[in-house]
Amino acid sequence: MTTPLTFPDKNEGVVDRRRLLKAAAALAATGVTMHAASAATVTPFGQTGALTPSTDPLPLGPLPGSRYPDSHLESMKPKVSFGPSDFPAFAGTMAVERVATGMRWAEGPVYFAAGRYVLFSDIPNNRIMRFSEDDGHLSIFRQPSMNSNGNTIDREGRLITCEHSGRRVTRTELDGSITIIADKYNGKKLNSPNDAVVAADGSIWFTDPVYGIGGFYEGLKAEPEQEKHNVYRVDPKSGDVKVVVDDFVEPNGLAFSPDEKKLYVCDTGFTDGPDKPSHIRSFDVDLGAGKVSNSKVFADMPKPSITDGVRCDTEGRVWCSVGWGDPNEDGVRCYTKEGDLLGKIHIPETVANLCFGGQQRNRLYICGSSSLYAVYTSVQGALKP
Ligand code: MG
Repeated sequence: MTTPLTFPDKNEGVVDRRRLLKAAAALAATGVTMHAASAATVTPFGQTGALTPSTDPLPLGPLPGSRYPDSHLESMKPKVSFGPSDFPAFAGTMAVERVATGMRWAEGPVYFAAGRYVLFSDIPNNRIMRFSEDDGHLSIFRQPSMNSNGNTIDREGRLITCEHSGRRVTRTELDGSITIIADKYNGKKLNSPNDAVVAADGSIWFTDPVYGIGGFYEGLKAEPEQEKHNVYRVDPKSGDVKVVVDDFVEPNGLAFSPDEKKLYVCDTGFTDGPDKPSHIRSFDVDLGAGKVSNSKVFADMPKPSITDGVRCDTEGRVWCSVGWGDPNEDGVRCYTKEGDLLGKIHIPETVANLCFGGQQRNRLYICGSSSLYAVYTSVQGALKP
């Protein structure tokens, strides 16, 4: 058995190799193997070379106290069971695991099937992380990342990234070069692109709240140049950037239904005031025209919790993050496409985003504050996020 280890001791700035080796030897004696990549490459909290075994790391593996059926998986149906008759998302032998830790604030997961890895942003540390699911290897994919936030993948397998300090959306080409997809609208800088999704026609849809220019922690402080916090669409042929929706307070995570007839967009406007929204809106999509209509509130969040990220499975169920409010609500919610709450995944940290991954697209990866969590499910993520 190989158990990846990280050493999130933010108070230590010096590599103590003797302690590291001693710890490795002690672990080897117990049959637990120190993960080479974690020990050699990943520095928690953005330190370079600062690897000191902590006496109090968040443990990796199944969450403490887990016993099948995992109590972190909650069905909203009466007579709870995790069989196909109620909430058909989990089998009894599935459990929530913490698979990586040591981030300051994790967001924007995206899964690359060809390489079997998850990329996700660690915004304050100005880096994109890579979690390889074959061996639990955690490493830095890109640093600096221009305080990247949301990531997604296009139909050609290229990485699409929203950057706070870059105030732009970029595409990482297959040769590794970076192309700017959008950094302006009407001749003025975007606020701070937050999350993106790519439609079947190649159009890129993204949100542009102001979170990334509010200070120097997750970006660079600046005055917004866009009066409204819009949802935009980038035309796949011309590259033109057009506003799709202009009445959000703070548009955030977004996803298409599997048939692309619906668009779901989170509004985390509650961060701007108690009377502001904390919900997911749904729209009918006219993909050919690049327009949406029939705006509805799809699901209200339990304030003060907000939902930052959303994904759909192949059956059109809507999975969203929950965080920043009651700790008992921290985690993931799953709704029917009609908006009925089916179940919750309880996570011991505030959750921002999620994505489906795994070789069968049946493993849900969850960005929860300092850590990346994962749980196998009985469903499959929509073919493209
Ligand atoms: Mg977001």
